[in-house]
Amino acid sequence: MARPWLHVRPVSPGVWLVAEPTHVNGWLVAGRDRAVLLDTGLGIAPVRPVVEAAAGLPVEAVNTHHHFDHTGGNAEFDTVAIHALGVPLLEAGTTPAERASYLAYTRALLDAAGPYRDLDRRFFHLLGDDSDPRELPEGFDAEAWVRPGPPRGPAPVALHDGDVVDLGGRTLTVLHTPGHSPDSICLLDDRDGLLFGGDTINTGPIYAQADESDLAAFARSTARLAALEPDVSLVCMGHFGRGIAEPRHLREVADAFDRLVSGDPDVELRVQYDCDDDEVREAVFGQCSILLPADPRG
Ligand SMILES: [Zn+2]
Ligand SMILES: [Zn+2]
Repeated sequence: MARPWLHVRPVSPGVWLVAEPTHVNGWLVAGRDRAVLLDTGLGIAPVRPVVEAAAGLPVEAVNTHHHFDHTGGNAEFDTVAIHALGVPLLEAGTTPAERASYLAYTRALLDAAGPYRDLDRRFFHLLGDDSDPRELPEGFDAEAWVRPGPPRGPAPVALHDGDVVDLGGRTLTVLHTPGHSPDSICLLDDRDGLLFGGDTINTGPIYAQADESDLAAFARSTARLAALEPDVSLVCMGHFGRGIAEPRHLREVADAFDRLVSGDPDVELRVQYDCDDDEVREAVFGQCSILLPADPRG
């Protein structure tokens, strides 16, 4: 039987990974009274029933930023919150071209998964439930997904830096961390020290190549997160098969951005293609990589 599109597993008390493996990772965080889903994913399979069953509580949605791979399930929820700068961006929605290109990427990834699994089984042993991609669900309507019509879902609640999301006996502090996009936030679980990084902290490729990305802001935001390392127990990230990292990953990513903005000539750069199949440059570091525009800006 085909495995379900969504992979949900507990990570620490009251916290679950809600993965669309190799694509995007949402994080379900429950307190005594309420639960929030940090990012609602691609909207390829219904997510609300799955997370409410796991948490045993009503779940509200928080988006780490407006991109369609983090907001695809918003329409299922009664409450959606996003940074204030993300409110108009979320309401503007996404284009069918952007979605069609992501679907083409997904299909290419699934074609590659067969031979990749064979190699992994024989030699590498890295694939597991968090990282092994799932087939698109039976009955998935690609045409409707590519052309979803006007954005649906409740009017978003605007978040600001320093806001506290109170779940009852557990709070999440909002950290505005622009760089990947102007509206990117991270959230820090003040009780257990989990840092939810969205698209600001990933193993990579970390996407900094878009027109809306801002490398200098990205460096400042990741330096701010690195300073929190003593208060962090786990870093929970928005993408790919390695969704969880130790706190020192915050320093690794901040140092990588610092080397880029300071023009370090020793940074290794190679040609890469992003999920839109656009040519970009990939800056390669020990535990992460960062995508940059193909043509240096300025
Ligand atoms: Zn993004
Ligand atoms: Zn993303």
